Amino acid sequence: MGRGNGQQHPFRTFQLRNLEATPGFARLSDHQRMAIRVVGSVLPFKTNNYVCEQLIDWDNIPDDPMFQLTFPQEAMLDPEHFSRIADLITADAPQSEIKAVAREIQLSLNPHPAGQVEMNAGYLEGQVVQGVQHKYRETVLFFPTQGQTCHAYCTYCFRWPQFVKLDDLKFASKEIDRLVAYLKLNPAVSDVLFTGGDPMTMRTELIRRYVEPLLADDLGISTIRFGTKAPAYWPYRFTDGTDADDLLRLFEEIVASGRHLAVMAHLSHPVELSTDASRDALRRIIDTGAMVRCQAPLIRHVNDSARTWADMITTEVALGAVPYYLFVERDTGAKRYFEVPLVEAYQIYTDAYRQVSGLARTWRGPSMSATPGKVVVDGIAEIGGEKVIALKFLQARDPDWVNRPFFAAYDDKASWLDELRPAFGEEKFFYADELHNTRPDAPKQLQLTITRAA
Ligand SMILES: *Cc1c(COP(=O)(O)O)cnc(C)c1O
Repeated sequence: MGRGNGQQHPFRTFQLRNLEATPGFARLSDHQRMAIRVVGSVLPFKTNNYVCEQLIDWDNIPDDPMFQLTFPQEAMLDPEHFSRIADLITADAPQSEIKAVAREIQLSLNPHPAGQVEMNAGYLEGQVVQGVQHKYRETVLFFPTQGQTCHAYCTYCFRWPQFVKLDDLKFASKEIDRLVAYLKLNPAVSDVLFTGGDPMTMRTELIRRYVEPLLADDLGISTIRFGTKAPAYWPYRFTDGTDADDLLRLFEEIVASGRHLAVMAHLSHPVELSTDASRDALRRIIDTGAMVRCQAPLIRHVNDSARTWADMITTEVALGAVPYYLFVERDTGAKRYFEVPLVEAYQIYTDAYRQVSGLARTWRGPSMSATPGKVVVDGIAEIGGEKVIALKFLQARDPDWVNRPFFAAYDDKASWLDELRPAFGEEKFFYADELHNTRPDAPKQLQLTITRAA
């Protein structure tokens, strides 16, 4: 991308191999440079010229949220892991040795949380459909092969293993035909969500090749979604050159076909919406008839304040976008560095929610995309003398679980569903048995989904 089609803003990425060329590199201490090299050997690191030049305030590092969002920090690794890699780099060890140790550390960081591989696969004739995840009845996630990268990498990314070449674990697909066959067998699916990586890293021609077959009337797809951070990390994707114009034309065609087109914008901080480029991008997307819905996780060091969220969702509404989900950071990668306990997340969410207009309160959270489904922390309450956390499913493997309150014992340290215990001395949460029963055999689970839908 960024070459030879009339674009005014050449796209340049910065990774370990060209770290010295990074705008702002001169502002980094020796210690910070070393930390980037060490942590960047384990967790993927990539930033770009737009992020460095327009979003990061280099007078405010290391605290600047966009610096924290795209540059590795020492404390993202356990001290023991950090020093193992640091020692190898200092001793000028061969790349192969650094890679081997890095891989060992990667595998210890829960690379595939929430049963993504075993439990969410799509099946066709008993075979896994590459690049398809199907967890909730209505919505299929599709990972086009060429969209498995991003314009920059978030340091907290929960899909980080896709970028560090743990090849066997990578979800990808070249095969739109297989997806179409899958959708024919699963008429309950109404939404296809292109995700990655970031599908907006693909050229428009390629996106079009994936999208057009989904518009066949007999498939019953009423909504196309694109999960993307391009409005934040590379808004020129929507404003610059013929490829951007072609993309907007494709968006118009999807809308003209009578379908809902949702650009699920990953927006982490209001500074991402402060530039002319990002505002132009949103304007152009919305002008096609697409809807922009905004979501992001709550991340320590990046956006862990109510003020930040209130500003962001208010700005989103002012720009014509719709606040959607506030996620809880997943239990993977540098989780320890970024985690915010659930009770604190609920407080931040509530403080922000109270500050904004009703139009910004389409925003739901804090929500955990956990193994059984999307679980929202709905409140803190006292019931029968016991302090409890009220929870419910916004999405669930079994649609019958959705929107039914359940309760965990109050715990202000827990930062994920599996750290919570049921309230009232109960042994397990209501869904536990059924979840356990569906675990080992995914094709059966899928049949269950089809039967229910029928
Ligand atoms: C969040 C999510 C979806 C989409 O859920 P909505 O509530 O419809 O936005 C689909 N599949 C998976 C696996 C998800 O995590």
